[in-house]
Amino acid sequence: MNTTCLAPDRDPMGAAIHDYYNKGKAARLRVFSSQFDEDEIPVSGLFRTYGEMPELERIALQSACGRILDVGAGSGCHSLALREMGKEVQAIDISPLSVEVMQSRGVDARLVNVFDPHFVGQFDTVLMLMNGSGIIGRLENIGGFFGRMKQLLAPGGCILMDSSDLRYLFEDEDGSFVIDLAADYYGQVDFRMQYKQMKGDSFDWLYIDFNTLSLYASQYGFKAEKIAEGEHYDYLARLTVL
Ligand code: SAH
Repeated sequence: MNTTCLAPDRDPMGAAIHDYYNKGKAARLRVFSSQFDEDEIPVSGLFRTYGEMPELERIALQSACGRILDVGAGSGCHSLALREMGKEVQAIDISPLSVEVMQSRGVDARLVNVFDPHFVGQFDTVLMLMNGSGIIGRLENIGGFFGRMKQLLAPGGCILMDSSDLRYLFEDEDGSFVIDLAADYYGQVDFRMQYKQMKGDSFDWLYIDFNTLSLYASQYGFKAEKIAEGEHYDYLARLTVL
């Protein structure tokens, strides 16, 4: 599992966040994948306020308690909303430009890869939002992920993570699914981002359906509960140590 952070010249999302924060606008944040057509992430959406957040995220913020770790915190939108709710939150991200923006916004943010064992702490809630399971990268990393979470969770703590089931991408017109069971798990996606001339490295991003998540969770000593469902195959899960 990669435990490093991004170099500032390979941090397109951070550059977009940095521009938006400092200039009030940003160019296009482009997303490429070998599996999908080119897409874009609306940069203003990364600065969403509590009122602009999808229901799943608001439920996650309401459920978060105690000492909270916001993993892959981006612009710090969730950390700021949590602080307004009077909650105690530590934000981490591998993007140096995002961390700089979060610090300017008054968020307690650190440049840390969640898989770096040098980062220690005991958190009551580990928050992973905006397809938070993506950070796991690939299904084969999931054991390492749960092991790492056991190190970071205080007794009785939980992970609140959203994800979605990509099976709709494989749905035929007649409603049947054509999923190649011999191939890699269908929720494993590779992405590469670009902002202006700055290109990031390609990375793996895991979308995981709730059943697969539950199976792996129990294999690694966690219980998975679906606490909310979104509008399009997305859901919010709470994971606790068994
Ligand atoms: N949670 C934010 C941002 C989501 S984008 C939001 O909902 O708006 C995903 C973020 O995770 C990016 O900022 C990326 O830099 C960060 N990230 C990716 N892998 C990470 C890792 N291993 N450890 C910490 N942060 C990571």
